[in-house]
Amino acid sequence: MENKPLLWIVIPCYNEEAVLPVTAPLFLNKINSLAAAGKISDQSRICFVNDGSKDSTWQLICDFARKDPHYIGISQSRNRGHQNAVLAGLMEAKDKCDITISIDCDGQDDINAMDRMVDEYLKGAEVVYGVRSKRKTDTFFKRFTAEGFYHVMNAMGAEVVFNHADYRLISTRVLESFADFREVNIFLRGMVPLVGFPSAKVYYERAERIAGESHYPLRKMLALAFDGITSLSVKPIRMIAGLGAIVSLISFIGVIWAIVQAILGHSVAGWASTTCIVCFVGGIQLISLGVIGEYIGKIYMESKHRPRYIISERTWAPYERHYRG
Ligand code: UDP
Ligand code: MG
Repeated sequence: MENKPLLWIVIPCYNEEAVLPVTAPLFLNKINSLAAAGKISDQSRICFVNDGSKDSTWQLICDFARKDPHYIGISQSRNRGHQNAVLAGLMEAKDKCDITISIDCDGQDDINAMDRMVDEYLKGAEVVYGVRSKRKTDTFFKRFTAEGFYHVMNAMGAEVVFNHADYRLISTRVLESFADFREVNIFLRGMVPLVGFPSAKVYYERAERIAGESHYPLRKMLALAFDGITSLSVKPIRMIAGLGAIVSLISFIGVIWAIVQAILGHSVAGWASTTCIVCFVGGIQLISLGVIGEYIGKIYMESKHRPRYIISERTWAPYERHYRG
């Protein structure tokens, strides 16, 4: 009986009071049905991570935990963003279970795909990626920007699984290796492939949000993409070096051409062309400085070794010493 894997479902929640009463029972049903099918231990848990919500999300989580021991929760001292919330939940789970599944709490990721994820784990995969097979419910704009996101990420050297976000199963063996990744700028979907281990994919259709609004407008998505690229790859700096070389080569050819023209007695006229070139090169230099500055900023943040999350409360031990990681 106890050889069955103990599962923790890790669910980040930020201002989700409208959503939790609907989705929380669905997670419980899933745990119960998986345990009844003999695939997981009935000691499995649903671990909500309150990401410093300003509404009643944490009270709701505490109420759930009082009603059924399968529900547990940890609370971050303030809002640190989705990636840190998932990481906090995973690190909490690391030595308390055999497998974790991270999933959003808004019902967009198909909870039923968990059956196939656990099957893949039982067949030997240690990482199972939930991949969105269709984006029917997303607007054209969301689909276009989201798919562009994966293409740009891969082109820039940040290896990510196409159309996979943060719905995934991980074994604790993987989590233990993961704990050695100490960076502050975390981008989980780029870090998991780096750990290695046998992996599998499970396809599902992405649904609409049950209630409330997305916390990822275009601005935040661009920031996430830029963070992901610069924390996983130095390709942009290399591309800048390449661009610099090309621009230098073109101007060198231009200079030779102007000298030859002067020797032949034809003067090269025009302030406009000179101004254009100066502006063009100036623009490239500013962009380059910006990209390099982004990396220097990241080095600065990493060098501080600040905690990535600070847990202020747990449903099972509200007064335990706070924990940072
Ligand atoms: N989330 C979080 N902290 C944040 C923003 C979001 O924990 O600062 C959670 C949110 O509650 C949800 C998940 O991350 O469970 C995904 O967020 P959302 O649904 O807003 O993003 P989208 O699905 O639109 O990309
Ligand atoms: Mg969502």
